Amino acid sequence: MGIGPGDVLELVRHGRATTRGEIAEVTGLSRVTVAQRVDALLEAGLVEGAGAGDATGGRRATRLGFNARAGRVGVAVVETAHAQVAVTDLAGEILARSTLDVDVADGPEPTLAAVSTALRTLLDDAPDAPLLGVGVSLTGPIDPATGRPSEPPILPGWDGYAVAEDVVERLGRTVPVVVRNDADAMGFGEYAALPDPPKSLFMLKASTGIGSGIVLDGRIYQGNDGAAGDIGHVRVPEAEGMVCQCGATGCLAAVASGRAVVRQLREHGHEAQSGRGVRELLAHGDPDAVRLTREAGRTIGRVLATAVTLVNPGMLLLGGDLASGALLSGVRESLYPAVLPRATRHLSIQLARLGDDASLVGMAGQVIQQELSAEAVNRRMA
Ligand SMILES: [Zn+2]
Repeated sequence: MGIGPGDVLELVRHGRATTRGEIAEVTGLSRVTVAQRVDALLEAGLVEGAGAGDATGGRRATRLGFNARAGRVGVAVVETAHAQVAVTDLAGEILARSTLDVDVADGPEPTLAAVSTALRTLLDDAPDAPLLGVGVSLTGPIDPATGRPSEPPILPGWDGYAVAEDVVERLGRTVPVVVRNDADAMGFGEYAALPDPPKSLFMLKASTGIGSGIVLDGRIYQGNDGAAGDIGHVRVPEAEGMVCQCGATGCLAAVASGRAVVRQLREHGHEAQSGRGVRELLAHGDPDAVRLTREAGRTIGRVLATAVTLVNPGMLLLGGDLASGALLSGVRESLYPAVLPRATRHLSIQLARLGDDASLVGMAGQVIQQELSAEAVNRRMA
């Protein structure tokens, strides 16, 4: 359809053109066609007149704004032992949320039943607005072609499971469901919140397991089979002979994940049970937790040296339960000496900022990126 209402929405949503005159200038469309496109968007409630713009020819041009309240997005972030669900507006702002305990080792059906029930409750309470879609993140690789878990190392019974279809059925709503890896979702959420985002961002998530996400030019890079960034099961010499949750020995996660730090802490007489427990100890400056997390950071940093050399990101963010000053110090100590200065000249290594919100916001952002794209909007409004 050439330049449709979806293309105009994209211009307005990103503030690149916000008056009818600017839209005509940017798109080359006639004023009549621009008026038709804008009227269609106004009618759909996706844009609204947001007061007066620049004076042109003695007339005040109405400035158009994106109406983020025109719809809702449902999101579920499923971790190994708990899940977060939320409803956001079309700008990804969280309107309502709740958390629940799950055990992904029980398999997809009981886990998704519990998550869908919690999400359904939030959606029923949310102000009445159309549901644009639902986003679900999981702690494993997702096949980009099918949107299904792809041989996830720590999600027994989830391989190839039709997550989207299951969620649609349980919610009783026919909506698009976007499924992503949790570190990818976290990276995208952090990326989208940056005032001046770099060309590429590498997100390390160190919680109960270890994963990472890559955002290139504003899009998650999933790799050919969805395995991009699944660095937790790279073999490292530090973990030689140690059994990982995935069943193999010698994985990075066997020696440097939250689960591994918990094991080491318990050997020192601490009561920590999970990555969350380590997070609490770190927050209180517990010397054992700090020392062991810093050591985990050094091991992770040696693996990240290769990742940074391959991707050459502008920013490396550390998130998850282990994210702390101790982890940051450890990563910096081993990463910088292991790579050429050129790869790190403009690299900023920081702690992630959004905490638990990152994956929720990131999943909402993924649904919005897919379903409010010019192409998707043009298709729906044709
Ligand atoms: Zn492993």
